[in-house]
Amino acid sequence: MTLTYVVNKGIYINLTNRCSNSCEFCIRQYGPTVYGSENLWLEREPTAEEVLADLEKYKLEDYEEIVFCGYGEPTECIDTLIEIAKAIKAKSNIQIRINTNGHGNLINGKDITPMFRGVVDIISVSLNTANAEDYVRICHPEFGEEAYSALIEFAKLSVPNAKKVVLSVVESTLPDEDIAKCDALAKSIGATLRVRPFE
Ligand code: SF4
Repeated sequence: MTLTYVVNKGIYINLTNRCSNSCEFCIRQYGPTVYGSENLWLEREPTAEEVLADLEKYKLEDYEEIVFCGYGEPTECIDTLIEIAKAIKAKSNIQIRINTNGHGNLINGKDITPMFRGVVDIISVSLNTANAEDYVRICHPEFGEEAYSALIEFAKLSVPNAKKVVLSVVESTLPDEDIAKCDALAKSIGATLRVRPFE
């Protein structure tokens, strides 16, 4: 199983293939690998011990960050994620980021954002659209229209618990007026908007 892989100066951790969205643009539709990785479909979800053992093959000082991203939604495995992040922070100052769809509180049935404090530096939430209707049409969340307001609330609650919270949209998929709305939304909750390139 591929538990970790490298993208540029980041070590990416593949915790799960579960996801509460079925985005029409999801990279997982196009094959089992990204950025030259091995197959990212997991036979089963790894334990924290297995991931930490796999991380031993890297010299952390050679990298800029560790990213919980995976081939799925990492907050589906929040306890494993936090256990790994705490173990990394206990021995290294390397930056830790979570790339998430922002459904973590819905998935776990509680506010998980206080768990990030002191162990996760950056929370990057895929906002994708400027309104709930477009979000449902493109991302097909299992939580329905509630998912959009919930992900904004998740980002807002993350602000006091992380060093930085980013909302992201994909360049060229939104008109300028929608990007302006997303930017205003990000600012209103203390987050930053990132317009990322289409890959
Ligand atoms: S949230 Fe991410 S992993 Fe989940 S379906 Fe969308 S693009 Fe794929």
